[in-house]
Amino acid sequence: MPREYARREILIKLMEFPCSALLLSLCGLQEVEATAERADEATAEALYGMGIQVDKCIGCGSCVAACKAENDVPEEPFYFRTWVERYVIHDDGRVQVDSPDGGIRGFTSRQEDGASVLRAFFVPKLCNQCDNPPCVQVCPVGATFKTEDGVILVDSDYCIGCRYCIQACPYGARYLDPRTKTADKCTFCYHRIKQGLLPACVEVCPTQARVFGELTSRASPLRRMMRMSELQVLKPSLNTEPKVYYSKLDGEVR
Ligand code: SF4
Ligand code: SF4
Repeated sequence: MPREYARREILIKLMEFPCSALLLSLCGLQEVEATAERADEATAEALYGMGIQVDKCIGCGSCVAACKAENDVPEEPFYFRTWVERYVIHDDGRVQVDSPDGGIRGFTSRQEDGASVLRAFFVPKLCNQCDNPPCVQVCPVGATFKTEDGVILVDSDYCIGCRYCIQACPYGARYLDPRTKTADKCTFCYHRIKQGLLPACVEVCPTQARVFGELTSRASPLRRMMRMSELQVLKPSLNTEPKVYYSKLDGEVR
């Protein structure tokens, strides 16, 4: 049995017992070292971020399709690294949210009582690449970690598929890949940005609703957007310190 595979199998077996996270720490397995190393990395300065200009999103779904193709996301409509939600706000206070197949084929018009609709808009969502990420904190084997440039990644060689991170993420940004049984999510297209390319979703957006760049460079498109717009993040009260910043975000967005 290959060594990496054997180690993962042992860890999966251990996780079947109660208090297994504690057991793992007591056993002093190699993965604990990995957790410590990556905890150090978690203090690294955040470099990359994404801006989303809500008033520019037309809900075409090109970003969702490009992401699936670029990152080999399973085809089934429950697996997404990024998705688009439609919000419809009515004058009686009702808020309707839908995201058919993650918005990958765009949105068809709804049979609404047009007179009652106050406003409607699209909100692209993805992993927020939190600077204070609960998913990293709960991972018992250090498989979810922060890179030195502040991107949250999953090391599938270490991931044991326990789903702790999926439950801990307050943004619903993670899924368990049915093929590998490991956790997955948006990486800001880490393989692309390290080559100086844009994330696939940013590159294909026809309206430039998505803006990507370095938070530490004043000349980056993201910093320019930050200077020009008032920005919000999702669920700010959770203190996760997201690095996905929204402009023109409606107060009804959850
Ligand atoms: Fe982790 Fe969720 Fe934050 Fe992404 S959005 S870094 S998966 S807690
Ligand atoms: Fe919105 Fe751009 Fe995605 Fe189309 S590609 S849904 S405009 S963010």
